Amino acid sequence: MNVIYLDYAATTPLDSRVLDIMVPLYREKFGNPSSVHLYGQRAESELARARRSMAEDLNCAPEEVIFTSCGTESDNLALRGAALAARQDRGADQVLIPSVEHHAVLHTAEQLESLHGFEVIHLPVDEYGQTHPEDVANQLSPRTALVSVMYANNEIGSYNPIPEIGSICREAGVPFHTDAVQAGAHRPLDVRALGVDLLSLGAHKFYGPKGIGALYVRTGTRLVPVQTGGSQEFGLRAATENIALISGMAAAFRLVQEEGHHRRTHTRKLRDSLIKAVLEMIPDVRLTGHPDHRLPNHASFAFRDVDANLLVSMLDARGFAVSSGSACKTGRPEPSRILSALGFSSAWTRGSLRVTVGVDTTLPEIERFSNLLPGLIAEVRELS
Ligand SMILES: *Cc1c(COP(=O)(O)O)cnc(C)c1O
Repeated sequence: MNVIYLDYAATTPLDSRVLDIMVPLYREKFGNPSSVHLYGQRAESELARARRSMAEDLNCAPEEVIFTSCGTESDNLALRGAALAARQDRGADQVLIPSVEHHAVLHTAEQLESLHGFEVIHLPVDEYGQTHPEDVANQLSPRTALVSVMYANNEIGSYNPIPEIGSICREAGVPFHTDAVQAGAHRPLDVRALGVDLLSLGAHKFYGPKGIGALYVRTGTRLVPVQTGGSQEFGLRAATENIALISGMAAAFRLVQEEGHHRRTHTRKLRDSLIKAVLEMIPDVRLTGHPDHRLPNHASFAFRDVDANLLVSMLDARGFAVSSGSACKTGRPEPSRILSALGFSSAWTRGSLRVTVGVDTTLPEIERFSNLLPGLIAEVRELS
């Protein structure tokens, strides 16, 4: 059966042009960049080229780009690294994050609290899951080690006013991290304009390979390394670099810059048609996340009295791959923690559905999905 993929927020397929760039790097330029000989030199020059390319696209210096193994690792290095450094340098012991952060940030912050004696302060969010700059300003104090606010929410698609939050943190001299893993394919990523000190990316969310991420670290932002060993990545991330994955990430990120406008126009059209159909044709449904300040490929809904896990399985059986809330918790019939944080009542929090489109999605696919969904929702409501 031909399954239609509508889960681009969970991961994206690898762009075949990116794979073409990666294959010779596995086959021929397999050297270790730390080696002195020609194989090492060739690998080192590919590494430098990829780093320069990422830096150009982020509007930063090459030495401000740290390659990691994924978005999760970038979040870990940013939070743990900056918090431990801030305590060492100035005795700060508080971490400010909204509760709707991805688990990569949330669980790292929780470990800083349980294991390292930090206090985690949850920043309030509004009904769209957005963080307001004045709420950050209200919580800042000399005790603040780090502020981390996600650029865009993976479950509900809302994005945050990162430049405004960034300038408040900069004024207070507190390091500011943003998890831009979900935003990477869709939002402006000029780190100077954003005013961030730390920014996390993961390549597989923008048609790059899995197993590779990056952390932007503004010069002067001190981090305690999480992974110790050799002096790779300016001493911040020890391990022999995977040149094929690193070059693949840089190539995929370059394509985001070159083709992003076209991709956004395409996905926004499909997404808008989907949202319109669902809101018109199905009773007791709400769009979750901000109606306008949301990622262009992202539709998310709450259905009253619907077990969304069951719905996702039924859609799967009919040939549609979508997700309920966050892909990290598929299968477990739990209320969505994000919708709970937004103040949805229990009649709604099990009914979270996320449909995210991509470059390969077509209008007929969206129409087939929109025609199927109302009947399935009615069926699930009968069963619940
Ligand atoms: C996907 C995602 C992550 C995790 O990234 P990986 O590369 O899968 O480790 C972190 N934060 C957000 C917002 C995400 O969407």
